[in-house]
Amino acid sequence: MRVIGLLVAFLVLTALTQIGGIALVVTWFALRLLRSRHMSPVWRTTIAGTLFIVLYGVLTVFIVPPLAARDGRIALPCLADRGRHYTAANPIFCLLNRNYVVPQLAELLNALSRDVATTFPGTTTLFLDANLPFWDGFPLLPHLSHKDGRKLDLAFYYQNSDGDYLPGATKSPIGYWAFEQPKPDEPPSCPAKNLLTLRWDMVWLQPLWPDFRLDEARTQHALVWLFHNGREHGLQRVFVEPHLAHRLDVESPDLGFQGCRAARHDDHIHIQVVGRNLTTSAHNSP
Ligand SMILES: [Zn+2]
Repeated sequence: MRVIGLLVAFLVLTALTQIGGIALVVTWFALRLLRSRHMSPVWRTTIAGTLFIVLYGVLTVFIVPPLAARDGRIALPCLADRGRHYTAANPIFCLLNRNYVVPQLAELLNALSRDVATTFPGTTTLFLDANLPFWDGFPLLPHLSHKDGRKLDLAFYYQNSDGDYLPGATKSPIGYWAFEQPKPDEPPSCPAKNLLTLRWDMVWLQPLWPDFRLDEARTQHALVWLFHNGREHGLQRVFVEPHLAHRLDVESPDLGFQGCRAARHDDHIHIQVVGRNLTTSAHNSP
């Protein structure tokens, strides 16, 4: 039973963070070496928890970045910096190692955020899930396409009910699942509810979010910049829901729709840059 629990924990931690499973296994072996009949269960749990956190922290800060760089991925920075106009919407993306991209995508984000901040001084562009540090083909669940360092989700920009921009704020704590529903004059992107879908509506969550409004001017500006300048930086595709593209009056051959069985894109913007192996599916996956 303990072995099954350990295996499940290993799989969950590996799926979530890629290296959490390794930290867990090392912790387990270290505890076996330390085995003492005089150690109470409370002490064992305390030592195991501390050891896991220290190991995970050392791996995350000192070991993973140089190894990921050899694999062609860099960590998007999460700490504040005066000269940078983007950061993670929530530190959890960095704590879980979900902030890795190819350098080209980091440069695209840097250029986009610089332009938005030039047009709207004081604006910070917030990123959400990127990719895990290693191995092309290892998806960042639940985003099946975030598996090659070339995909990144961006948060919308928000304002309060008075129309004032809210720096560094997202409507939901992690930037996802606060959906901008179609207005009465906007056709719904997906008319009927599908079974077996990743298009979660999270209806029960929506009333819990604060009364933040989509900052249409900033969000539109970011999309227009991407469509006009993104290709210079390797941009391949942008996903937002059709009703939002209609509302923001943006149009481009680079604008895609993920279909009705994939996750919604009226709570964030998905961008991706060209890869080494271009395929038709790469153009259409969210
Ligand atoms: Zn995405």
